[in-house]
Amino acid sequence: MRIRVLGCYGAEMPGYKTSGFLINENTLLDAGTVVSVLSVEEQIKINNIIISHTHLDHIKDIQFLADNVMGKRDKPINLISTNGVLSVLKRNILNDIVWPDFTTIPSKDKPILKFLSVQEKKELSIGELTVKPIATTHIVETVGYVIKDKKNAIIYTGDTGHTEEIWKIASRESNLKAVFAEVSFPNKMAELADVSGHLTAKGLGKELKKMGKPEIPVYVSHMKPQYLNIIEEDISDLENKKIKVLKQGDIIEL
Ligand SMILES: [Zn+2]
Ligand SMILES: [Zn+2]
Repeated sequence: MRIRVLGCYGAEMPGYKTSGFLINENTLLDAGTVVSVLSVEEQIKINNIIISHTHLDHIKDIQFLADNVMGKRDKPINLISTNGVLSVLKRNILNDIVWPDFTTIPSKDKPILKFLSVQEKKELSIGELTVKPIATTHIVETVGYVIKDKKNAIIYTGDTGHTEEIWKIASRESNLKAVFAEVSFPNKMAELADVSGHLTAKGLGKELKKMGKPEIPVYVSHMKPQYLNIIEEDISDLENKKIKVLKQGDIIEL
């Protein structure tokens, strides 16, 4: 499995893009950043978008991607998440008001986008991968994912505050090779992190204890760029060599 970091920050400003990860060549994990990084040829190859939740920093490029690949693909791009998440997207974004409903364009039979819902804790096969959503603790319905190929499993928490289930599953997953977790705020802003359903470095330290498995690499994203230096210091204070703060353009090969 190859994971390319297209964007990994909790806000957008020059030099910093929001969450988007390309798995192998054809699957996106969240779509906050896609079209400003991938060439159109690369965009055309995308068959699946796995969505953690409907906050704009995780979905905004779905709309522009749909526009860019129109007429250039012969099958729809699957929008994969729970029913709850997909219905918010349908009702509020792809509603012919905020953006055209690309699940019926150019026709209902041959649309650009297709909703593909998966129940929480149920595994869905997509090409060479399987994905399984696990509910996390954020301020809107949000799921993290266990994503597997034949040899490897990764866990992506999406946006989350303190949570239980996904760490339980991480502790039991025998092929687990990496965890992608979030740290959004500095330790000194723990209260804001809590009310907004996010973590600080200290909070992540506590979460990782629930998983056990100190040998597993932990890749951190979703830092608010305005506090990046402080967050990096807070993370280094954890003195955990397995934790790496992601940068745009990073490629992780498993
Ligand atoms: Zn969010
Ligand atoms: Zn976010």
